[in-house]
Amino acid sequence: MEDSAPVLIITIPCYNEEAVLEETVRRMTSLLDGMCSGDRLVSPDSRLLLVNDGSKDRTWPIIERLHAENKYVCGVNLAGNVGHQNALMAGLESAKELGDIIVSIDADLQDDIHVIPEMVRKYLEGNDIVYGVRKERKTDTWFKRTTALAFYNLMRRLGVKSVYNHADYRLMSKRAVEQLCRYREKNLFLRGIVPTIGYKTACVYYDRAERFAGESKYPLGKMLNFAVDGITSFSVKPVRIIFFLGLLFLLIAFGILIYVICSLIGGNVVSGWASLILSLWFIGGCAMLGIGIIGEYIGKIYLEVKDRPRYNIEKTLLK
Ligand code: UDP
Ligand code: MG
Repeated sequence: MEDSAPVLIITIPCYNEEAVLEETVRRMTSLLDGMCSGDRLVSPDSRLLLVNDGSKDRTWPIIERLHAENKYVCGVNLAGNVGHQNALMAGLESAKELGDIIVSIDADLQDDIHVIPEMVRKYLEGNDIVYGVRKERKTDTWFKRTTALAFYNLMRRLGVKSVYNHADYRLMSKRAVEQLCRYREKNLFLRGIVPTIGYKTACVYYDRAERFAGESKYPLGKMLNFAVDGITSFSVKPVRIIFFLGLLFLLIAFGILIYVICSLIGGNVVSGWASLILSLWFIGGCAMLGIGIIGEYIGKIYLEVKDRPRYNIEKTLLK
């Protein structure tokens, strides 16, 4: 009975996090201690996997020291900075070899770690993916709140499945991570990919806190890049918009043509105007249509190149 508790791996990407690491590990250790004892929610083989994403400060030496001192702490040192999403993926790929369930969370613990036991319980109830969803964005600035909301809405309209107010704080079963590893794309937008895996999912809700030390590694520029990446790695709809704009322009050209013919019949003509305005809209429309058509093909190539798995089988019943 004792050994049936799942092995939990908590993976944390760390980039220049010397200011928070020790406190983070201290809090995680007491959480894991609690979960391993008492009602034995998880196995004592559970680990904390810290991924150093090419930090320029003392993050890695600190991880090495913590590894020597603390029975839970494991580390992965990436050869250079590859960005949050890639570092997270490195953590997940290593973690799936070590445990049965994997929780990913940021180093600054803005996400409430006390819902991890609840996540594990939801896993035990049969969910393969449990999303951490923040209740309100009280601690974020007005700007971050509104831009985030606009972004979620835009993504939804463009047909990208993503969970509102969920970032990369989530629990995944080993098999869900294995499935995720079949996505061979290099442009990662994990919160968009994970919902396409399938399986049964659940959410837990928490309040997001402020960073307790250090500063955000996601300034506005990086945030915008991330948003553009998110849209362009999931949707070829922007190209289709160009295509339809081209059609619209041609339609306008056609309307002007009718207007020109009418004024010709009516007899009030300004010389040169008709040919100029007509060719303007006509050529513009043709050019956009052309770009749109080429874009559609490039979009198809793009989707093929990503080589995503077509399906994921949850269970097979055979005789
Ligand atoms: N991070 C990373 N590589 C980077 C940038 C950030 O691994 O190039 C990590 C960082 O250490 C943290 C997480 O990604 O654990 C989220 O970063 P941060 O808390 O600064 O983002 P914010 O919460 O401000 O959006
Ligand atoms: Mg943060």
